[in-house]
Amino acid sequence: MTSGMRELYQEVILDHSKRPRNFRAMADATHTATGNNPLCGDRVEVYVRLDGGRIADASFVGQGCAISRASASMMTEALRGRTTEEAHALFTKFHGMVTGDSGNAPDGPVLGKLSAFAGVSEFPVRVKCASLPWHTLEAALVRAKETVTTEA
Ligand code: ZN
Repeated sequence: MTSGMRELYQEVILDHSKRPRNFRAMADATHTATGNNPLCGDRVEVYVRLDGGRIADASFVGQGCAISRASASMMTEALRGRTTEEAHALFTKFHGMVTGDSGNAPDGPVLGKLSAFAGVSEFPVRVKCASLPWHTLEAALVRAKETVTTEA
């Protein structure tokens, strides 16, 4: 990645942190969970509305640093129209990128704009900030599934 591209990506992150998209509570959410990152003080509540197996809407509220807010904002944009399986695959790829555990090229077509967070892997403390919204999403989707299939 050239330094020019890196600046561009940082602008994307800055833009989303200043003007987060889908920053609202969702009254008709089918899945929701709260995530905390005490190390940084990030707190995020993720809302998802599933319709026919696809994510019809995704939103979030919360408080946190610029990275966590931008990550949540860009995540909600990236989720719309995806199946839960696709959302999980995206999480896996995103997590691999920010933790540096993945052989995936950061600029791969699947991650798209989310590749802006590739630089986060150089800052271990920030990895939790960037991945918090995604972990919260995973918790939301799993919890709803458990509610349906357990607790007889
Ligand atoms: Zn943070």
